[in-house]
Amino acid sequence: MFSLLFVSLLLADVALRLWLATRQLRHVHRHRNQVPPAFAERISLRSHQRAADYTLGLTRLGMLERVTEAATLVGFTLLGGLQMLDLQLGRLIDHEMARQLALIGSVLAIMGVIGLPFTLWRKFVLDERFGFNRMRLGLFLADSVKALFLVLIFGTPLAASVLWLMSAAGVAWVLYAWLIWVGFRLLILWLFPSIIAPLFNRFTPLDRPELRERVEALARRCDFSLDGLYVMDGSRRSAHGNAYFTGFGRQRRIVFFDTLLSRLNTDEVEAVLAHELGHYKLHHIRQRTLLDAALALVFLLLLAGLSGQIWFYTGLGVVPQLGRPNDALALLLFFMTLPVFTFWLAPLLAWRSRRDEYAADRYAVQHSSGAALASALIGLYDDNAATLTPDPLYSAFHDTHPPAVARLQALRHDH
Ligand SMILES: [Zn+2]
Repeated sequence: MFSLLFVSLLLADVALRLWLATRQLRHVHRHRNQVPPAFAERISLRSHQRAADYTLGLTRLGMLERVTEAATLVGFTLLGGLQMLDLQLGRLIDHEMARQLALIGSVLAIMGVIGLPFTLWRKFVLDERFGFNRMRLGLFLADSVKALFLVLIFGTPLAASVLWLMSAAGVAWVLYAWLIWVGFRLLILWLFPSIIAPLFNRFTPLDRPELRERVEALARRCDFSLDGLYVMDGSRRSAHGNAYFTGFGRQRRIVFFDTLLSRLNTDEVEAVLAHELGHYKLHHIRQRTLLDAALALVFLLLLAGLSGQIWFYTGLGVVPQLGRPNDALALLLFFMTLPVFTFWLAPLLAWRSRRDEYAADRYAVQHSSGAALASALIGLYDDNAATLTPDPLYSAFHDTHPPAVARLQALRHDH
């Protein structure tokens, strides 16, 4: 019964995503030869067609990736992959904790290897063709080694402590594991600007006095205490531009990608930053963190309930071994299959995120300039080859940002 439910939901999930993607392909293709009127002044037909072709390429790759992920999931569960792996590792490793950590590590490694061709294709074929990729294979390998190292030094103690709690802390393990998870997220947030990000990029203080003055004035107007303004060498990897906040408490910094500063003028940079400040001042960041923490608690409670049920394992193709901990199996099965049961949450979260984007835009209009923000957005859509004409249903399901035309319309309406 549970197997049947799982398979039906997985098929429904894949079918829905593929259907939405084909709608997106058709819609973007159909609007490929006309720039929407609101953008006609700034975006040439050639750029618009380039954005359409880039979107078509990304969407097709995404479809293939989704099907591969679903097949991998079925391979691990109903086809017995996880069961086999667990038995093999059980023969090789005597130590219970080591065996369970090895199981989690192997599954993550296998999924990483299966996902690798998609990442490589996206960067070195698609992005390369459209001129976004600035990375050579050497830098990609160096990045991957560093990321792997980070996963090992942060992930191993996290997984080990959760596994230990599951076996030793009785029913209260959920609460302890949740506290560890929340603490872990805060630790990463705290270490990110000073330790993690500098492993990948160089940060230099912003040295454009006129822009610095404008940003500091904006921060004063918005009553935002600022610890530093930095420029990041994003151009080492990609031509896509961005800006973000990092750190919390009193050590808040603003980081600009050099690619953003090279494309936008001072007014536009100020407006983009006002939008980002809006997210902060309207508590979007805090709300999102709290929502994540609440969802984590719900999921852990659910996991605690399911991990004691035989049908949860057998329904997903695994026969739990009696007389030894099956906690790693429970964790893996739960978090691998969770997206299948919660895929209907995705459009809700996307809708929430789009609502926050509109609110941050309104904040930017009030504290900076709506015209400059509109101009910056048009420039960024153009530079990033983001489609201006997504399929409405596809966009409603997936997009964390409002579609270009609607967003610009709202901006014009606000100022
Ligand atoms: Zn935003």
